[in-house]
Amino acid sequence: GATRTKKVLILMSDTGGGHRASAEAIREAFKLEYGDEYNIIVKDVWKEYTGWPLNDMERQYKFMVKHVQLWKVAFHSTSPRWIHNCYLAAIAAYYAKEVEAGLMEYRPDIIISVHPLMQHIPLWVLKWQGLQKKVIFVTVITDLNSCHPTWFHPGVNRCYCPSKEVAKRAALDGLEDSQIRVFGLPIRPSFALAILSKDELREELELDPDLPAVLLMGGGEGMGPVKKTALALGESLYDKELGKPLGQLIIICGRNKVLKSTLESHEWAIPVKVRGFETQMEKWMGACDCIITKAGPGTIAEALIRGLPIILNDYIPGQEKGNVPYVVDNGAGVFTRSPKETARIVKEWFSTRTDELKRMSENALKLAQPEAVFQHREGHPRTCTSTRSSCEYPLCIDIIFLKLNMID
Ligand code: UDP
Repeated sequence: GATRTKKVLILMSDTGGGHRASAEAIREAFKLEYGDEYNIIVKDVWKEYTGWPLNDMERQYKFMVKHVQLWKVAFHSTSPRWIHNCYLAAIAAYYAKEVEAGLMEYRPDIIISVHPLMQHIPLWVLKWQGLQKKVIFVTVITDLNSCHPTWFHPGVNRCYCPSKEVAKRAALDGLEDSQIRVFGLPIRPSFALAILSKDELREELELDPDLPAVLLMGGGEGMGPVKKTALALGESLYDKELGKPLGQLIIICGRNKVLKSTLESHEWAIPVKVRGFETQMEKWMGACDCIITKAGPGTIAEALIRGLPIILNDYIPGQEKGNVPYVVDNGAGVFTRSPKETARIVKEWFSTRTDELKRMSENALKLAQPEAVFQHREGHPRTCTSTRSSCEYPLCIDIIFLKLNMID
């Protein structure tokens, strides 16, 4: 009925931290814009409703990205459409009942997928159920550049791309122009809306108020050469002649518990904070002066918003490779796999080359798209009733208009 709270089901998976961050970004935007009108459910449907291999994606993903060659093979060998179609069709047939039960339990009005493997099967289920005309299905792509073709499914109502390059690829892969929209990568509104003072943040997070700070992380799983880099920084940021630190180090290990406990038991000559999975990344980034990370799209987009120069020290082959030139060519950071080199660069940024740090910070801010989850960058629908200034309106409003236009 007309008064029923509408349900939005967001399909994600905890492979890495990026899909969850995007799902949360969309949920928060819906809340800000619509309050209680929509009930937003964020679900890892595969984990909860299916068997192997779908319920095991997290573990398999972690295993494969640790063994990079394996991931490369998996990424590129499943790229041709006929291969992943056959594979996913087989899985769909096998788990159809469970996925169907999972999707139907919530009776969603709108389904939003933020995962490359969550187009085919849910769309098949909607088709079998004859629900294609009733339920809106959209994909929000969370890879910036070299994304896997399973993201592009011609059966979606909309495919939201984070950049023009991705949109071009969607068109080449057979999506119609009417299905494709270019928005930025969905970033949690806490990044876009908060006005944060570095001094206050440092006090709140119990950091040194004066020393320049470098943030070291490796996505949601704490991947890449985090440990070696931390140790190298521990040395390079200590000025032996003066007998005092040049800077402080914050290490966010994400869900990597082994990394966290190893680093916690180390004796440091400089101020160091070792943390696990943090839920308020905007604060940690806001308190620091630069960041070292693998080339994850979520972390990069967030760091740019905070104006942090970026040292990229790793990337996941396939989907993250293209993020490296995006940062480096735009002057917002550098790429090096060597922990020693990384430590040397940070030392220089904090001592003799502060001008370079400043310039890169300015370039980062120029690239940033903090309003991505709100702002539609290519025009404005006539029906838009947004009270926001000029022609900004959230991705969620676009989805709602889609829904209204379809049903009426
Ligand atoms: N993240 C977080 N807490 C942590 C570590 C990471 O919220 O302790 C977030 C981070 O802010 C970013 C996402 O997880 O939004 C990581 O996404 P990215 O695309 O960089 O890499 P992934 O982990 O997906 O490979």
